[in-house]
Amino acid sequence: MSSEKKSPRQFDVIVLGAGPGGYPAAIKAAQNGKSVALVEAKDLGGTCLNRGCIPSKTLIANAEVLHKIQAANDFGITVGNVHFDYNQMVDRKDDVVNKIRKSLEGLILANKITIIRGFGKFTSPTTIKVTGHDNIEIEAKKIIIATGSEPRQIPAFPFDYKKIHDSTSLLEMRKLPKKLAIIGGGVIGCEFASLYATLGVEVTILEMLPRILPMEAESVSTALTKAFLNKGIAIHTGVTVEGIDTSGKGVNVKISGSKGIAADMALVAVGRKLNTANIGLEKAAVHVLDNGMVAVNEKMETSVPGIYAIGDIASKWWLAHVATHQGIVAANNATGHPAAMHYNAVPSVIFTEPEIATVGLSLEQSIEKGYNAVLGNFPFQALGKSQAAMHTDGFAQVVLDKATGQILGAQVVGYEAATLIAQMTTAITNELTVECITETIHAHPTISEAWMEAAFIGENAPLHWPPKPSKGQKK
Ligand SMILES: Cc1cc2nc3c(=O)[nH]c(=O)nc-3n(C[C@H](O)[C@H](O)[C@H](O)COP(=O)(O)OP(=O)(O)OC[C@H]3O[C@@H](n4cnc5c(N)ncnc54)[C@H](O)[C@@H]3O)c2cc1C
Repeated sequence: MSSEKKSPRQFDVIVLGAGPGGYPAAIKAAQNGKSVALVEAKDLGGTCLNRGCIPSKTLIANAEVLHKIQAANDFGITVGNVHFDYNQMVDRKDDVVNKIRKSLEGLILANKITIIRGFGKFTSPTTIKVTGHDNIEIEAKKIIIATGSEPRQIPAFPFDYKKIHDSTSLLEMRKLPKKLAIIGGGVIGCEFASLYATLGVEVTILEMLPRILPMEAESVSTALTKAFLNKGIAIHTGVTVEGIDTSGKGVNVKISGSKGIAADMALVAVGRKLNTANIGLEKAAVHVLDNGMVAVNEKMETSVPGIYAIGDIASKWWLAHVATHQGIVAANNATGHPAAMHYNAVPSVIFTEPEIATVGLSLEQSIEKGYNAVLGNFPFQALGKSQAAMHTDGFAQVVLDKATGQILGAQVVGYEAATLIAQMTTAITNELTVECITETIHAHPTISEAWMEAAFIGENAPLHWPPKPSKGQKK
């Protein structure tokens, strides 16, 4: 028998991880005429398709339908007793995910990308050893790392996936609890709180910082807090969870200086762990920061020429669409088409009820950066369409640089926020000024008119809102 070592299979580009960062990178590299291997240890589509964006938004869509039916009486529509079967909702979620995963596989293969199934580890700056379903060593001059992240666990109360859940195991549950305690009032915690409360679960949020959604503008966080309290969600901020006792029937979440919060189960949503620790980065001498993030430049290139990193492991933006953009930038650079990442207009949507969407800078951030910034805020209640659709809660606001009129940021809370943010994302990406919005004809009656009205207010020339009292005039 020959003891000769088999030489690695050659590709132009290897992409490690097939999430929303990795698979678009593989498609772009293939489109640019290169031979590409896409290595995936679990399921095509990564966290977003299998354990994140799509399954959570499918369940949220169910809750939205329920919410609308429950409000039918207000529209003069009488419905009988409304029932739902959560098990069927979970079946629908699985069907949606499976369908998209299947068509994604077709798309990848149609681009003549070689899918390699297994866990990949660097053995040198140009080689990856894959073990699992496929066992193979592969080599390329260009490698794009897109290994993503997983739920972070707290050593004092590790996940047992029965009573102490992460977002992944909660999405798999077939029966709703009566009471749920959510540790962490960030985006994931708030989305689950909104979903479960709409489905009738008694929800308590425990957040260490002084407010929920601590990374968002204060006005946004305040609006959600108010809406959640109206919905019956209990919120405890400024509390440290010291442990979770699972010895009784349910859980008892211990917080400093209190008896604790009793619930059937707990969701721990306190951030994500980056998948950079055990993929052999030391064999490639790739520089990893103390927090586990891979250091990259604006080309998404790491400290090692020819090795790129994208997605959750490569920036503070843990969003699928950012991962995808980074993937395209990295693949273009890896295939001889110079490209760079910019982060001044990253839209971010929080799929709570009410929906929240933001882009660019908040007023607080603009002032911190030295702008003489002003805010134009228009409440939805003053819009004809909001009244017609009975979605009067919420607002749209634009942050403007007073000196130049440039739009620095925008936030919207309420009906159709996720869709509305696209207009402001285009505006900020293209460095538009407030006049570009006031001079744009907005269709009537639509919620998008809120941007035009907010822009008029930012210019101190409100249209469908009373003018500010002039100096000396009584309010
Ligand atoms: C509950 C939840 C809801 C979310 N909702 C949204 C949302 O609405 N909108 C949004 O924009 N973002 C959302 N996100 C975040 C989004 O899912 C992530 O930002 C995104 O998936 C990151 O993409 P990625 O390609 O970097 O990594 P991932 O999607 O994590 O994919 C990485 C892939 O690499 C594979 N992998 C890892 N290591 C290896 C290895 N060594 N070899 C082979 N394969 C490997 C993994 O199996 C995985 O498939 C949500 C996340 C969660 C958890």
